[in-house]
Amino acid sequence: MKKEKMQPIERTEDEWKLLLSPEQYHVLRQKGTERAFTGALYDHKKPGIYTCGACGLELFDSDAKYDSGTGWPSFWRPIHSQFIAYEEDKRLEVTRVEVLCARCHSHLGHVFEDGPPPTGLRYCLNSIALNFLPNDF
Ligand code: FE
Repeated sequence: MKKEKMQPIERTEDEWKLLLSPEQYHVLRQKGTERAFTGALYDHKKPGIYTCGACGLELFDSDAKYDSGTGWPSFWRPIHSQFIAYEEDKRLEVTRVEVLCARCHSHLGHVFEDGPPPTGLRYCLNSIALNFLPNDF
């Protein structure tokens, strides 16, 4: 398999504030969570690619999207494992695994081990942390 090369994107928080809407900034840079069933993409079913809402890196394919019933866009695997970074999130009583864009280190959501086969993973992401590129673009 081809190894994807990736140069990290580093911006100051002031730069991100200029580039992102306040709602995007809150989720992507301050690790906020949008309310369930409010995002534009949780029930979105068109074929295409979901990209990082901050830097545009192609992160998830509609092939791996499924309806988790949670009200957030859910995927069972990323396009490239090396495009995703993980961190332990201890902000709640239960430790969660935070999912970040590996290129710009923006917060996307969390990953849980209650997803469908074959991975058994549920990448539970914020709509507003993603952009959608349709295949028929
Ligand atoms: Fe990014």
